Amino acid sequence: MYGELLSGIGVDPASEIDTVFEADHRDPVVLDNIPFHSICEHHLLPFFGTARMAYIPNGKIAGVSKLARALDIASRRLQVQERLTGQVADAIARALDPDGVAVELEAEHMCMAMRGVQKPGSRVTTTAVRGRFESSGANREQLLALLRRR
Ligand SMILES: [Zn+2]
Repeated sequence: MYGELLSGIGVDPASEIDTVFEADHRDPVVLDNIPFHSICEHHLLPFFGTARMAYIPNGKIAGVSKLARALDIASRRLQVQERLTGQVADAIARALDPDGVAVELEAEHMCMAMRGVQKPGSRVTTTAVRGRFESSGANREQLLALLRRR
C-alpha cells in the first residue's frame, strides 16, 4: 500500500507533462476541482482536498490530464501542503514555460482532525504563483482571481 501511496518519490512531476502542443492560444487555461491526497511528513497522516490550476500559455499547451498527473506525482510522497503547491507550479513552469502559472490547494489535514487541536472540517489553502506577468499583460492578481472564480 505504501509503495502505491509513496510512488512519486524520486519522480520529477514535470516529466509527466510530456504531451505538449504548440499553440497560438495566449489566454488563460484553468483546471478546477482536481482531487488529490497526500501524506503529511510531520505526522504520517493523510491530507486531501482539491486543486485549482491556471496558466497563461506562451506558445505551448499541455494535455490537461498531464497537469493532474503532475499533481499526483508530487502528492505521492511525504509532503507539506506548502511545498506540494510550489512543486506543482514549478513543474508546470518548467514543462510549458508559460507567461504565468498559479496553483491553489485546499485541503483537510487528518493531523488537525484526529489529534492535537482536533478540528475536523477545517481547511488549509495554499497558493503558488510563478511567471513573468509583466510581458504578458496579465498580472498576478488577475490570474488568482481567475483561479478562484467558481
Ligand atoms: Zn501533519
